[in-house]
Amino acid sequence: MELSYWELKNWFTNVDYTIVGSGIVGLYAALRLREKFPAAKILVLEKGMLPQGASTKNAGFACFGSLSEILEDLKTHTEEDVVQLIEKRWQGLQLLRKRLGDNAIDFKPHGGYELFLKEDERGFNETIMRLPFINEILKPIFKNDVFAKEVDRFGFENIHEYSIFNPFEAQIDTGNMMQELLKQAVAADILILNQQTVTGYSDLGNQVEVVLGDFSFKSNKILFATNGFSGELTNGAVQPARAQVLITEPIKNLDIRGTFHLDRGYYYFRNIGDRILLGGGRNLDFETETTTEFGQTKIVQNKLEDLLKNVILPNQEFQIAHRWSGIMGIGNSKKPVVSQLSENVFCGVRLGGMGVAIGSLIGTELADLI
Ligand SMILES: Cc1cc2nc3c(=O)[nH]c(=O)nc-3n(C[C@H](O)[C@H](O)[C@H](O)COP(=O)(O)OP(=O)(O)OC[C@H]3O[C@@H](n4cnc5c(N)ncnc54)[C@H](O)[C@@H]3O)c2cc1C
Repeated sequence: MELSYWELKNWFTNVDYTIVGSGIVGLYAALRLREKFPAAKILVLEKGMLPQGASTKNAGFACFGSLSEILEDLKTHTEEDVVQLIEKRWQGLQLLRKRLGDNAIDFKPHGGYELFLKEDERGFNETIMRLPFINEILKPIFKNDVFAKEVDRFGFENIHEYSIFNPFEAQIDTGNMMQELLKQAVAADILILNQQTVTGYSDLGNQVEVVLGDFSFKSNKILFATNGFSGELTNGAVQPARAQVLITEPIKNLDIRGTFHLDRGYYYFRNIGDRILLGGGRNLDFETETTTEFGQTKIVQNKLEDLLKNVILPNQEFQIAHRWSGIMGIGNSKKPVVSQLSENVFCGVRLGGMGVAIGSLIGTELADLI
């Protein structure tokens, strides 16, 4: 890379903060740093043409966990940890709405539903039995009951007649959210360079050398917001997890509004106007889906189509318009990793499947480490 004097001077000299990754976490961290340090030079480096991990690929659920997901988490986390995580997701959502505005992100408070497959009577019973307990532990946050048993009114097939409704869940327009965040970052004089992959760094004690292939520059601090691509950085605390999604063409008279969790969180779908977006199925082939490569597989896509035909749109004609995938960052805990790795190196990673909610808060916490 041959750079001019001007390019070096304006973009790569006296850099105070370099942020790696322009997903929700990276952009929020940058905006927070700008609030704290009005005159600092803040540089965001992003390997994709657009943010290219999960933040522009997700389903746009503004959610904090379905009832069965919360029960599942209680098997591996303490009650205190689970409640704290839900509170942070909820706070993160409020932070996101406040900064970007409900209009900008097309926030729609339709509520969310958890559905159980007919054959999973046991799962349904186990979940419903603990509904009062979960409502009780969430009371301090929501002041009201979060979950309620409801008869399905959407005409889904092959599912239990009752679903679990959560009035606090909503949907947003993911594309609008990310575009608005990018606009705000540019307006806040944050430099964003795309198609730049950070290939290495070394903490020199008073500064960090940041390596971009055959070029390097110095920055006072570096903050990694690389989520599913953070493997080596955190000694394996974060693993990549691919998630595949499809969307239908508009469907005439579609009467489905809301966000839906199906089969204990393995699948999720929502309406986007008159279309259905459906994702999930990582559980069919965890090994193949543990990857940082984007792509689709037959086994997952066939299952998604099968669910559309037999559960979600049983009596309707539909066509698939588009399919894609995104890469999440997961690990043995649902808690994100926000930490200082060395004198001048920081990270905010492992956002899991609910980064739309918690991402703004983790970006803020990451910046506040400085
Ligand atoms: C299909 C799918 C559906 C989802 N649905 C929902 C949902 O409905 N609701 C919800 O709350 N969450 C959902 N999520 C999760 C949510 O999208 C993520 O948790 C969140 O976007 C993570 O944000 P992030 O900024 O940490 O990571 P990312 O958005 O992945 O950002 C990390 C960025 O770092 C960049 N990067 C990585 N390495 C380098 C490098 N070396 N140099 C330069 N740049 C680099 C990547 O290109 C990427 O843009 C979903 C995720 C997927 C994949």
